[in-house]
Amino acid sequence: MGTSGDEHERTMAFAEIALGQIKALRQPATPRNFEVWYSYATGYHPTLNEVINEILSRRGRLTEADVEHICSTFLSPTRLSERIDHVGSRVVDEIDQVMAMVDVAIGSTSTCSENLAGVSRDLPAADRNDLRTIVESLVHTAKEMETMNHKLEERLTASKLEINQLQRHLEVVRNESLTDPLTSLSNRKFFDDSLDKVVTEAHAEKESLSLLMTDIDHFKTFNDTYGHLTGDQVLRLAALSVKQNVKGRDIAARYGGEEFAVILPNTVLRSAVTVGDHIRRAVMSKELMKRSTGEHLGRITISVGVATLRPGDTAQALIARADSCLYAAKRAGRNRVVCETDPELSTGAPAAAVA
Ligand code: GH3
Ligand code: MG
Ligand code: MG
Repeated sequence: MGTSGDEHERTMAFAEIALGQIKALRQPATPRNFEVWYSYATGYHPTLNEVINEILSRRGRLTEADVEHICSTFLSPTRLSERIDHVGSRVVDEIDQVMAMVDVAIGSTSTCSENLAGVSRDLPAADRNDLRTIVESLVHTAKEMETMNHKLEERLTASKLEINQLQRHLEVVRNESLTDPLTSLSNRKFFDDSLDKVVTEAHAEKESLSLLMTDIDHFKTFNDTYGHLTGDQVLRLAALSVKQNVKGRDIAARYGGEEFAVILPNTVLRSAVTVGDHIRRAVMSKELMKRSTGEHLGRITISVGVATLRPGDTAQALIARADSCLYAAKRAGRNRVVCETDPELSTGAPAAAVA
């Protein structure tokens, strides 16, 4: 429900905060510095903020090396794909090493077979002295094979550990790419992919499926009054209320700026309304306080729209109906849940369709 005007204002506010920090700390006004402080202002990378706060508390300013390090760790657009490439090349290295080891093992196995063939050929004509040499060569070959097997076993055990570790790395990188950094909820990409999938499944299984769309009420005023950084903390808190009221197969995501969406598989409209109302109550129950100053900031509320899947629905159609309900909740006075069967939906101006 955000407009491009809001987005513009938000961007300008972040930019002002960034410039303010550069001025206050007398940092050089380079694009890199601006990028770092802009990200700091958005709070999208909580760890970046923690790292900066820690450096500032120690040293009071960021050096060029700090800025360089922060950019390459948190902001480089190629960082994620570089990490995936890195994991990929480690897998290839690992496979190459195991294959080389297997080649050596095959080589020594065939040498051993040749030796054994020689022994069985020479054995019938062997005298006492020959026998001794033959047994010695057999013992030697058996020892070589044992050493080789041992090495191969060690190599395979090491590879197994390395591959398990790489799998865990990949999982972390994959989760990061599907998670919203500010709230730790799923991001829009994960939401879009998941909704397409669960809509298809619900149609195939003839299962119910409902969708909640929520939007914080008058959040622009909140930001304008208390600042975007405080606004971000409140967004985190609202996300926590969403998270604490979903379970099992439910998917909670940050849909946009201060909008959250919840996919509720196997859930009929009435139950979805109950979930929406639990989230609404949880959000409004929190008395907000600025941690740094102890200042009381009052409470925030959210509006919720709820729609349920109909035969033949696409994901887009379901989103559009939940969105219409959300607009209706706003029109009807905010801080409420409106679903498809509620009378509020048919009163007032028609909801704006979003392409
Ligand atoms: P309404 O009750 O009609 O929803 O009023 P509103 O002021 O909340 O209006 P709208 O939903 O259009 O406003 C979106 C505002 O949310 C704009 C911006 O100030 C704020 N916002 C969006 N994303 C973020 C964010 O990531 N951080 C912060 N702090 N604020 C955000
Ligand atoms: Mg909005
Ligand atoms: Mg809003």
